[in-house]
Amino acid sequence: MSELIVQKFGGTSVADPQKILAAARKAIRAHQRGARVVMVVSAMGKNTDMLVDLASQVNEKPPAREMDMLLSTGEQVSVALMAMAIDSLGHKAVSLTGAQIGIRTDSTHTKARIRSISTERMRRLLDEGNIVIAAGFQGIDEDFNITTLGRGGSDTTAVALAAVLGADACEIYTDVDGVYTTDPRLLPEARRVERISYDEMLELASLGAGVMHNRSIEFAKKYGVTIHVRNSMADTPGTLIVAQPESRGQAVCGAALTRNEARVTLRGVRDEPGVSCTLFSSIAARNITVDMIVQDVGESGRADISFTVPEAELADTLQAVEAIAEELGAQAVEHDRNVAKVSVVGLGMAQQTGVATRMFRRIADAGVNIQMITTSEIKISVLVDREFAQRALREVHQAFELEKEVTVDAFEASPQIGADAADVVERLQGAGMEDLMIDEVRLDETQARVTINQIPDTPGIAAQVFEMVAEAGIFVDMIVQSHAAHADAASLSFTIPRDSLQHGLQVAKSIATTLNCGKVDSCPEVAKLSVSGVGMRSHTGVAIGMFRALTEANINIALVNTSEVRVNVVVDGKSGQAAKLALEKAFGK
Ligand code: ADP
Ligand code: ASP
Ligand code: MG
Repeated sequence: MSELIVQKFGGTSVADPQKILAAARKAIRAHQRGARVVMVVSAMGKNTDMLVDLASQVNEKPPAREMDMLLSTGEQVSVALMAMAIDSLGHKAVSLTGAQIGIRTDSTHTKARIRSISTERMRRLLDEGNIVIAAGFQGIDEDFNITTLGRGGSDTTAVALAAVLGADACEIYTDVDGVYTTDPRLLPEARRVERISYDEMLELASLGAGVMHNRSIEFAKKYGVTIHVRNSMADTPGTLIVAQPESRGQAVCGAALTRNEARVTLRGVRDEPGVSCTLFSSIAARNITVDMIVQDVGESGRADISFTVPEAELADTLQAVEAIAEELGAQAVEHDRNVAKVSVVGLGMAQQTGVATRMFRRIADAGVNIQMITTSEIKISVLVDREFAQRALREVHQAFELEKEVTVDAFEASPQIGADAADVVERLQGAGMEDLMIDEVRLDETQARVTINQIPDTPGIAAQVFEMVAEAGIFVDMIVQSHAAHADAASLSFTIPRDSLQHGLQVAKSIATTLNCGKVDSCPEVAKLSVSGVGMRSHTGVAIGMFRALTEANINIALVNTSEVRVNVVVDGKSGQAAKLALEKAFGK
């Protein structure tokens, strides 16, 4: 059978008639080479933004169903024009809406998830010699309501179609030369990467790298789709998104900025099992993705919980939180809508020490205060005042010399997970395509926790602490810095190997004295539990599932961190085995 390729064109790549014709010619060239071609097309230029703006002028809070009805028209315009363009160039083309293809989704309007896609009609049209033009970003639910997949969702349509069709290639044509070490529009010195791994791209995309919709990478990873990101206006090599990273020696492959983040803090909630579960379930019930969950290790039976959400969802989040604040015993609910999150990502950071320290030091030297910290195996995020965010991003980009060329590891073709079309189709039956996939539940019983209380809320504290810890040769795993309610009320917790505890405590105490911090406390034996899989963070249910399982087993959670590939919680060492059993049961492992 001839080669099948999916080519996706983003908004700027179809912004005017000339660009539509140029995209049409690209598809025709591939078709003339003998390939069967499915194009996925976004709304023209800023059309979707314009529609969003129109809606807001007639209704401050437009009903989500009607929003989808409206937004889906953008793509309908461009697929029709694309088909006409191809026809004018003397080739056969048929445009299809999401409903006409049979892209079935759930009913979560404005962020629906794909359940299934039927390939019959597309295959028939391809066999008849047509170029098939699919509307990106849209689908239909069980009741034939039009749904959309979330802003930027055409990438997800493209990769999902490539997966179900068992395509040989999935090309994403956009307005930059590929994936860069950070947004090249923010930092012109950013470097185009030749290759990036699924896990790194997934993390970067969900931390603000808008070049790819994060859920498209979940698909690619799950079904083994190779993505090729390219410039629609230039014939440059682009970037491959595959299983293997660009260079294994590199600690950090990219940096990202989420500019419009908001922080919410619940002060003085009861420090007992079930609190996180109730809190985050009520937020998840509104389909809001929470990030940077930081729970302060409680003192006198009370704890502070802080987390971040997209600023656009702050009002909704606050509504959810206020409804249950009393039940949780919260003494106050505070928020800050003027923060931004700066993150670095890299598969290599798990093997190297001092990566976090390097980031903290650079930000400190720029005089920028770090308000919160969370780390996971492959990312470090800090929350800063929005005003200083871009500056912090540049400093961090320089600190890891991301602008410099690297020696790219030789490409090892990975076994194509999704290569066997029958196998892919098989896996798509039953459960929804975008359903959560849990790989494993892991228990680590080798660590201890150290917490320095009341650290001053001034630049440079984290940098100094971890420089001293590193000097002492102690390997740090998780780092969590909570937000300060008032000057010097933040705390800094980290986990280290149990056999380094005495040494770690000594160092922490001397730091506490030098920097005028409060009490240092520790837990000599903690258990770290990790649930790993695909799409862990965008499926708001994973962390909740963990909280619920641990609550039912009456186990209290001391620290939490989340990433796209893993959610980690730290509990008391004595509860490790019980926690593992509870989680295995909850996730069917
Ligand atoms: P499209 O309309 O083609 O989907 P998008 O605007 O959604 O295009 O995505 C492309 C944009 O993503 C680029 O213009 C760039 O500003 C932005 N971007 C953000 N982070 C990155 C990154 N790490 N690499 C490349 N582009 C990025
Ligand atoms: N047109 C939609 C948006 O602007 C989908 C996309 O472009 O990917 O969000
Ligand atoms: Mg896009």
